[in-house]
Amino acid sequence: MLRTLFMNLCTSLVLISALASTQARAEDAHSYAKLDEVETPHLDLQLTVDFAQRELHGTATYTLVRHGDVDKLHMDTSELTIEKVELISEQGWQATSYKLGELHESLGRELVIDIGNVADQVRIHYRTAPTASGLQWLTPAQTAGKEHPFMFSQSQPIHARSWIPIQDTPALRLTYNARVITPAGLLAVMSADNSLSAERSGDYQFSMPQPIPPYLIAIAVGDLEIKSISDQVAVFAESYIVDDAVAEFADTPRMIEVTEELYGPYRWDRYDLLILPPSFPFGGMENPRLSFITPTIISGDRSLINLIAHELAHSWSGNLVTNASWRDLWINEGFTSYVENRIMEELFGKRRAQMELALGYQDLLADLERLDKEDTVLNIELGTRHPDDVFSQIPYVKGQLFLVYLEQQFGREVFDKFLRQYFDDFAFQSISTEQFKQYLSRELLAKHPDKVSQDKIDEWIHQPGLPEDAPKPESDAFEQVEKQMERWLKGAQLNTEGWTTHEWLHFINNLPRDISAVNMARLDSEYNLTNSQNAEIAHAWLKLSIIKKYEPARDRLRNYLLTIGRNKLVAPLYRELARTADNLKWAREVYQQAKSGYHPLTQSVTESLLYPDG
Ligand SMILES: [Zn+2]
Repeated sequence: MLRTLFMNLCTSLVLISALASTQARAEDAHSYAKLDEVETPHLDLQLTVDFAQRELHGTATYTLVRHGDVDKLHMDTSELTIEKVELISEQGWQATSYKLGELHESLGRELVIDIGNVADQVRIHYRTAPTASGLQWLTPAQTAGKEHPFMFSQSQPIHARSWIPIQDTPALRLTYNARVITPAGLLAVMSADNSLSAERSGDYQFSMPQPIPPYLIAIAVGDLEIKSISDQVAVFAESYIVDDAVAEFADTPRMIEVTEELYGPYRWDRYDLLILPPSFPFGGMENPRLSFITPTIISGDRSLINLIAHELAHSWSGNLVTNASWRDLWINEGFTSYVENRIMEELFGKRRAQMELALGYQDLLADLERLDKEDTVLNIELGTRHPDDVFSQIPYVKGQLFLVYLEQQFGREVFDKFLRQYFDDFAFQSISTEQFKQYLSRELLAKHPDKVSQDKIDEWIHQPGLPEDAPKPESDAFEQVEKQMERWLKGAQLNTEGWTTHEWLHFINNLPRDISAVNMARLDSEYNLTNSQNAEIAHAWLKLSIIKKYEPARDRLRNYLLTIGRNKLVAPLYRELARTADNLKWAREVYQQAKSGYHPLTQSVTESLLYPDG
């Protein structure tokens, strides 16, 4: 109201400030939302989960905060059927007019609602499409228990709009309440205040009181059991895996403790883990209060739990301080990869943390090789390309190395203090790369002059590849592995006693590409790599098997592709298979079988590899 009044009094001045504000806000090319006109800081969701139709239907009710004299609300949708839109008035809810825009390949359709001049709430009645990109519907046969169906969401980066009409930009923060109706006997959970003792009534209420960006709104429904690890941490999972998960992730409470010591309080109350079916397309998703986790990191020896450290770290970097647009993803993922590694070092020591950093570095080098030069820039130029494309090792590991570099230049003590202050200063805000640069200059560079130049910062953030003096993480443990490999290739025995998953991964990933069939068979017979139950080791071995045409691994490869849908584990295998005509034909056959069990995101990545011409 004050702003409107001010506008009438002093139009020209406000026009200038409105322009400036539009410029600041216009940086998210992946949303139709106009936050400088209207914001939606609170959402009330009412949803019914219909497994037979594979749809959610219900209402999304938003509180409106207007900036100035506007009568339109611009939102994002993808494949939604909008049934009715209403505004609150003194007479109650009244229908209002709205328009759906042209379909944009990446962005979906803009929804423009006439909100008049006074209403402070809008309600949208809608239903989702069975093909919604942000939801996966699994039949009972596709779950481990085989009796009940399963459904889960994956909203990051811009898939929330496929199940909620929303201002789908990470620049927005909103709180939400939800009521979710499911078939009786199934449990619904959300990125909110999940109850550990909810009756399986099929009628669930949720509240998320801290403001979060839209991509962190999450839901899952299935036959879930709950087991506590501590007062603050519990596992939600299908019964077949709940005990294994509790044992595998027993270190989670300690992870929270050490992160709080480093970077300040955990501000989200509970921290629970939801174990999804193996078709979950990611390793984990940092949905607040309830990280979504792939079962493929449950290896029996806690060797892959850096992924839990990663998702937990997002409670500071990402969920607390968020990238303002997907061009700034490195602000989420680079910081999180850095914090993840620090957590691992605190809990398990330098040796393990260093191995994990070195493995990440190898993956980064492979991506630097594979990607177009312009896509190796931290503050990437995306245009309106789908932001799914930005999830390479660049924002993760290059971003992490940038922070490792700063830590080395300024010293750990100074850098830790800086980072902790950064999380406090930007808590519950979304920031751009430009804002971070200004903060860095002011709070670190200027206070400790002559350590790092502004040009060097710009090189890291705006130039492709890695700077000459970038850290090159190495691991003593891996050097030992390499020495053994040399001797083994000349016929000596391998001594793998005490080798962890990391050492095995380094060994397999660095075997010479011309390794003989005899040596492949020798390794396999001694260490049973084809049948490794560690999903990462199996992945590395199967990838090498494709390159070496090692046929004894074929059946396992088929089975692996049919049972796992995690993109990071299956995409490189399909990419490798697509290189020869025979393998491509075989891979297409396997994919046709696997497809119905894959998440829409894994389907689209796989299809881009196997059917590049559409
Ligand atoms: Zn992450």
